[in-house]
Amino acid sequence: MSLARLLPALVLLASSGAALAAEVPAQPAEHPELHALASAPSEQELRATITALVGFGTRHTLSDTRSDKRGIGAARRWVQTRFERIGRDCGGCLQILTPSQEFSGERVPKPVEVMDVVAIKRGTGDPDRMIVITGHLDSRASDVMDARHDAPGANDDASGVAALIEAARLLSKQDNRATLVFAALSGEEQGLYGGKVLADYAVAHGWRVEAELNNDIVGNSRGQNGVRDSTVVRVFSEGTKSNETLEQAAYRRYHGGEVDSPSRNLARYMERLADSYLPDFRVRMVYRTDRYGRGGDQVPFLQAGFPAVRVTEGHEDYTRQHQDLRPGYGDTLDGIDFRYLARVTALNAITLASLARAPAPPTGVDIKGALATDTTVMWHKVPGAAGYRVHWRDTTAPQWQHARVVGDVDHAVLQDVVIDDWFFGVSAVSADGYESPVVFPGDAGSFERSPGAR
Ligand SMILES: [Zn+2]
Repeated sequence: MSLARLLPALVLLASSGAALAAEVPAQPAEHPELHALASAPSEQELRATITALVGFGTRHTLSDTRSDKRGIGAARRWVQTRFERIGRDCGGCLQILTPSQEFSGERVPKPVEVMDVVAIKRGTGDPDRMIVITGHLDSRASDVMDARHDAPGANDDASGVAALIEAARLLSKQDNRATLVFAALSGEEQGLYGGKVLADYAVAHGWRVEAELNNDIVGNSRGQNGVRDSTVVRVFSEGTKSNETLEQAAYRRYHGGEVDSPSRNLARYMERLADSYLPDFRVRMVYRTDRYGRGGDQVPFLQAGFPAVRVTEGHEDYTRQHQDLRPGYGDTLDGIDFRYLARVTALNAITLASLARAPAPPTGVDIKGALATDTTVMWHKVPGAAGYRVHWRDTTAPQWQHARVVGDVDHAVLQDVVIDDWFFGVSAVSADGYESPVVFPGDAGSFERSPGAR
């Protein structure tokens, strides 16, 4: 469905608190800037990044950190230099950080420093709101402890790092309301350590992380079974919050919300954006935190109470993941479809831009209407919103089906919409028509971080 089809006419609402049709309320709009951004990712830039990263031989977390030619240290410094160059091109608009922690564990026999390389583009309106994109720099061979042999990791996950660097290049030149964070993580293959480093940093610094897009294995369009499909990318999202408390879970079981975590509504947001701005490319939403039995750097963010999704190619080829280089195996440059990777990068770029230009997702969302034929949706107003949009859908529908634009108000009454039969949500819309993700009522759907059960 296109955004244009969703543009509703002015609607008179039953509530005295809702806007009447005296003025045009803020409405979600189609944005030429996002169309331009959708075709902007450069295959040459993506290829240059992956070629450089593969050139470091291995980027294993336990590999050499002093050499400038080989190992994770050289790769980290290369990314930092790349961010510095992008920063120079935008007049010093990027702040660069290298947060780190020392870890030891099952896959880290001796304590090792795990360091992330992070570029930050401050927002001009709401700089405390953080929109994050990640990929992991480290790679591995067949033996997860083998830090010596070549492990090119072209797809896993130089492709994700290339996507986030290209997103930084494209978005650094634009002003946004919220702050954008571009992060190349380490330590993923040894135990998701780099994701933990950044999530811990975010908590310690009071970041309001509204979204984390973890791009891991995003460059290959040919499945192991031979299927070729460059038109689909999967977005994995958890159904319920990783850190919800027993009390929150009990409330949610009775009132709904088992398929409406903020991460899930972030995935729905991306699905809609792809539909509107990426011709012949779609998001396949998967109702799982990650692929079966596997994990990624979005997990430490979820555990910290932040909304996060995993972006992964539509069809994987396992002969090219976590494999020693040998005939028929290995994660090499020739397995990357750069045109496909450019499309995945475009999805990320338009999502980051749209989120960062929109107001924050509404807070304090709630509903009432038991034993009545109308439903009232309530929320707290957020800075930068010129209006709000109330959404509802069948309880079995994967995507929001109905929406109504309301003015700069904090509640709306939906006449003859029975509370029992639908799921409800609300989004915030800026004066220039950028819309936040939809927020499901209560703790189950809130984008605000709660300390949760951990
Ligand atoms: Zn990976």
